[in-house]
Order: sequence, then C-alpha cells, then structure tokens
Amino acid sequence: MVNKLAIVGAGPCGLLLAHYLLRRGEQYQIDIYERRNDPRTVPFSKSRTFPIALGNRGIAALQKIPGLMEAVKAMSLATTGSMIHQPNGKTRTITRKEPLFTLDRTNLAIALLNQLVEKYDNSRLNIHFNSQCTQVDFVAKQVTLQRDSAEKFTADYDLLVGTDGANSAVRDHLCTTELFECQKQYYRNEYKSIYIPNPTINLQPGKIHTWRIDDGTNIILLNQPDGSISGVIYFPQHKNQITSLTTTEEVQQFFHQNFPEVAQLMPQSEAEALLKRPISQVITIRCNRYHYDDSVVLMGDAAHAVSPSLGQGCNSALEDVVVFDNLLDEYVDDLAAAIENFSIRRQPDGDALAELSENAFPATKGLFLEFILRQRLSQILHQLFPQRFLPSLFEVLSDTTVPYRKILQSYEGWVSKVKNANNQFYSNL
Ligand SMILES: Cc1cc2nc3c(=O)[nH]c(=O)nc-3n(C[C@H](O)[C@H](O)[C@H](O)COP(=O)(O)OP(=O)(O)OC[C@H]3O[C@@H](n4cnc5c(N)ncnc54)[C@H](O)[C@@H]3O)c2cc1C
Repeated sequence: MVNKLAIVGAGPCGLLLAHYLLRRGEQYQIDIYERRNDPRTVPFSKSRTFPIALGNRGIAALQKIPGLMEAVKAMSLATTGSMIHQPNGKTRTITRKEPLFTLDRTNLAIALLNQLVEKYDNSRLNIHFNSQCTQVDFVAKQVTLQRDSAEKFTADYDLLVGTDGANSAVRDHLCTTELFECQKQYYRNEYKSIYIPNPTINLQPGKIHTWRIDDGTNIILLNQPDGSISGVIYFPQHKNQITSLTTTEEVQQFFHQNFPEVAQLMPQSEAEALLKRPISQVITIRCNRYHYDDSVVLMGDAAHAVSPSLGQGCNSALEDVVVFDNLLDEYVDDLAAAIENFSIRRQPDGDALAELSENAFPATKGLFLEFILRQRLSQILHQLFPQRFLPSLFEVLSDTTVPYRKILQSYEGWVSKVKNANNQFYSNL
C-alpha cells in the first residue's frame, strides 16, 4: 500500500524526514508544502540569516543518509570551542574535543533540498514552494494551502506531518482538537541578526566568539565559509538599549561604548542595515503530545521550539527524524503505531530540552563565571575519572545523544539554581 504523506514546512526537519522516508521504499509518496519561495532561487536573505551549530545529534542524523553530511560539511566551518571576549579586552577560551559544524540555516535547507531532488524524481516526491498551509480538516484528512495570489488548493493525505516551525499552523489547528494542549511562551530575550559581508578585521577562526554586558545583552559572531562574519545580538525583551536606537550614528555609538571590538568590525552600511532589520522573538513550545489520532504528527520546532541559548533546536529537530525512523523499524512501517509512540518517546525529551534551554544558561555575571569554571572542572574530572564524573553540560548536550530528560535529571541542581537567579535578574531589570 502506498502512504501519501503531506509534509508542511521545508525546514531542516521536514526535508530530512523526506530523505528518511523515501529511503525506506516505494510505499512512501511525499508532497512537501513550503510557504516561502525556493531558497535555491531567491537571493540570500540577509535579514533572516543566522548561523546554526550542529553537534553530535544533528550530525548523526545527517550521516545516516549517504552523501548528506559531506554536502553539509562543504558549506560549514568546524569550530572547536568558544572565545569569550571580556569587557577588559582579555579573552577566555573554552575548547571542545569534538568540533561543531556551523552554517547558515538556509544553507542547511539548501544542502538537504539539493540532495533530495538529485535522488528522487516527481513520481515519489513533489515540493510545492510558495504554498502556505491555512487549514486542516482532520476528519476528511485534507489540508488547504494558499499561494501568494490568494489561489487556494487542497491536498489529501494519509499522514500529515507538521514541520512548520515555532509558529506552526498545523499545531494551531491541533489546538482545536480534544486532549491536545500547547503552551507557547515568549522567551525573555529577543534578537537581531548581524551580518558583516567583508570584515576588515579577522576573528580567530574555528571559534564561536561571544561578548556580553551587564544589562543582559549578548553578541555571538562566527566566521562563515565565504569570508563573511555573521551572528546575532540578543537582548532582554523589556528593558534594553537596542529598541531605542533610531539612527545609524546611535547604533555605531552603542557598539563603540558597549562592544568596541564588534564596533571595529562593523562598517556604517551594516549599522544602517542592523537598524532596519526586524527584531525577532524567540518562542518556547511545550505540547502535551505530538500526534493526533492515526494521521497527524508534529516534529522539530513545531513540536518543541526552544531558545537558542544551548544551540539545540535544530539538533533536536534532526534527532526527531532518527527517533521516528527507529519507530518505523520497530513497528514495521505501521504509521499509526509509530506516531503514537513518537509522542510517548519524544515528548518528555522535548519538555526537558525546553527546561534546559530556558534555565541552564545563566544571565547573571556571577553565575556565568561559575558556569565557565564548572565547564572546565567537569572537562578535567571527566577526562580523569569518566565513570564517576559526567562531561560538562555543553559537552553532554552537543557531543552525545544522551536523552534530554536524562541530562535534565543529572543537572537538576544547576538548572534550579540558574532558574532562581535568572528570575531575579530579569524581574529587577
Ligand atoms: C538566532 C538563532 C540561532 C540558532 N542557533 C541554533 C544552533 O546553533 N543550533 C541548533 O541546533 N539550533 C539553533 N537554532 C534553532 C533552529 O534554527 C531551529 O530549531 C530549526 O531551524 C528547526 O527546524 P525546523 O525544520 O523544525 O523548523 P524551521 O527551520 O523553522 O522550518 C519551518 C519551515 O516551515 C515553513 N512554514 C512555516 N509555516 C508554514 C505554513 N503555514 N505552511 C507552509 N510552510 C510553513 C517555514 O517557512 C520554514 O521553512 C537557532 C535559532 C535561532 C533563531
């Protein structure tokens, strides 16, 4: 029997899922619906650009598809640690044993797309860009999509997969069904992308560079394979200096006063672009289940969007696909059994990841220093006595596939300490 799958959202999760399912055999026929244009044909959007760091979870998921990790690596830079730039001009370096591969989110989607269309023709795979899901009829198993021109069309499915990101339309429709609950929370920080196409100064290669100031504003910058530098500036939602900047001069002055090293990198054109760039919000999603009946499932950010503080959103989205593929093996391609068990197996990890992402990374200066010291100490102790001491929190998240719920259990004390301190810090702003 042929299973007709409708995947809504051609982000990293939806595209990797298509690879996995099509590899399973002729019984899968896939239509992917994406509201944006084909990223391979539109100019690279500088306003929405941000780099993603892929660790072991994401890499392991990509490696299962022959040729995919090689294609992703060709667009990535390997980073072997973080360089924390302090206000006094000195730096602290945290090194890593395993490299992270960093690349732009859109480039990751392009690598996944290129390989998909190379491997499968439209007898089994059809990708519909510029097609936004607006309605789902769960009884008729039919999804409604809209093109720019307001032209609407419908598509039938046996299984609908919502991989349409943090603001998922599929999830919004699931919220109208019985027993499905979803909590949507705006994270305390917002962000703007930073993009420096032709930097005149180089940042040390192979490192993730960070700067922070006492009001909770953070900058993360990375070298890109094409010689540019990109990253983001995060700042507290309610009280920050960024939203009050109104001219290019004010932007430049802000960087000169608070982040002088970044100011040196930033030409006037970028200060101007930064000013115009929209502020993006970060959402945390917690759902009580990820499936509905025998025909709908959510994955990736649609199911469990988290803040980027630990760099796990995309890694976990790609890992979802591996979990689902294992379930299809276990249940011999019985989709209804696989989606039900996907909820059972994955939802506790999604919730644990949300808790870790919100409360494992400290906002206060004092706890931040403790965090760095703990990282170093854990690295040493784990190296000497691997049976008795866990790796550092970042390493266990990025270099292993230990389930998130187990990580949360192991680091419960630290998470609760940071949660209290962060709550106090943000309420005093
Ligand atoms: C600043 C920043 C930095 C980050 N850094 C990292 C990192 O270092 N490491 C990491 O692992 N993660 C990181 N993340 C998180 C990561 O970007 C996401 O977790 C990841 O992109 C999720 O993939 P996805 O496929 O589930 O969703 P998305 O990438 O959001 O893709 C969803 C797709 O669905 C489409 N869509 C949406 N609505 C509809 C609709 N109604 N109809 C049709 N299509 C629709 C969208 O256009 C999009 O293409 C970061 C996120 C941000 C914002």
